[in-house]
Amino acid sequence: MIEIKDLHKSYQMGSNSLHVLKGINFSVKEGELVSIMGSSGSGKSTLLNILGMLDEADTGSYFLDGMPIKNLNEKIAAKYRNQFLGFIFQSFNLITYKNAIDNVALPLYYQGIKRKERIEKGMHYLSKVGLADWATHLPNELSGGQKQRVAIARALASEPKVLLADEPTGALDTKTSYEVMELIQGINDEGKTILIVTHEPDIADMTKRIVNLKDGVIIDDTIVKQVKAAAYV
Ligand code: ADP
Ligand code: MG
Repeated sequence: MIEIKDLHKSYQMGSNSLHVLKGINFSVKEGELVSIMGSSGSGKSTLLNILGMLDEADTGSYFLDGMPIKNLNEKIAAKYRNQFLGFIFQSFNLITYKNAIDNVALPLYYQGIKRKERIEKGMHYLSKVGLADWATHLPNELSGGQKQRVAIARALASEPKVLLADEPTGALDTKTSYEVMELIQGINDEGKTILIVTHEPDIADMTKRIVNLKDGVIIDDTIVKQVKAAAYV
């Protein structure tokens, strides 16, 4: 599903250059649940942004579902993003003046789907995350965990091939974090390929494979033998 080879990325800061990704190689097969773990500043978000076509590497190659991702203009990148990827963020990134169902249905608008079908599909995914009864509520009427569930339903609505989550539990308390991870595990059980960036080992332990990033290189890539279930934590 994802294949990257010798990826490098530097940021230019005036006359200085910060080399953030220093030759990343890895691939993700369909149906995997992978965490990219590392301390703050190790380059996790930079890598995820490149995978999400929100940013581009300086050198190296990236194939998504067999498609080379290189020199895409913004219009094509936006189309691919909407078609192939779902995003989940630490800060939820919901639209504050739209209620839960309209937030979830929004990606479908960009796919040209008619309103009736958008709402039907949106309700399907809102039910899936356990929030059917909250459809008409605004984000500020929801708890942090509920907001993240809405964001997950939104990410699922466009039926992406891959879900990319950057610190999805970063703004949540421990119990709610585990509940959100349990939901993510369930979505993966149904076959969705999911990549999670986290700096929390407890969260990484709830995925099936941990890729450890340090100072811009992968220092470890391990299959988790016993995936932690929320019920036991
Ligand atoms: P992480 O997500 O692991 O905390 P990031 O990928 O966000 O790490 O950042 C890696 C390094 O790159 C940090 O030192 C950060 O300050 C720097 N960085 C990130 N984004 C930019 C940017 N747009 N311009 C300059 N430096 C950046
Ligand atoms: Mg980050």
